[in-house]
Amino acid sequence: MLIARYQKQMSTPATRRYPVTVTRLPVTRCQICKRTLAYRPGEANTVLTEHYRRTHPEALGLIAEAETEE
Ligand SMILES: [Zn+2]
Repeated sequence: MLIARYQKQMSTPATRRYPVTVTRLPVTRCQICKRTLAYRPGEANTVLTEHYRRTHPEALGLIAEAETEE
């Protein structure tokens, strides 16, 4: 009985792995729909803008305006 249990535990771990590339990417959050967006370092703005363009085209004008003021 004890041995059988032990073997069962040993057979599981190696196959379970998370996709490291996806998990390591930093994420930003869309302020409108609260969706989490993964981006590559330095490309947070690009990803956000692209998301806005696809999902919230009407909000893109407001954001662009805020950026030009800086
Ligand atoms: Zn959104």
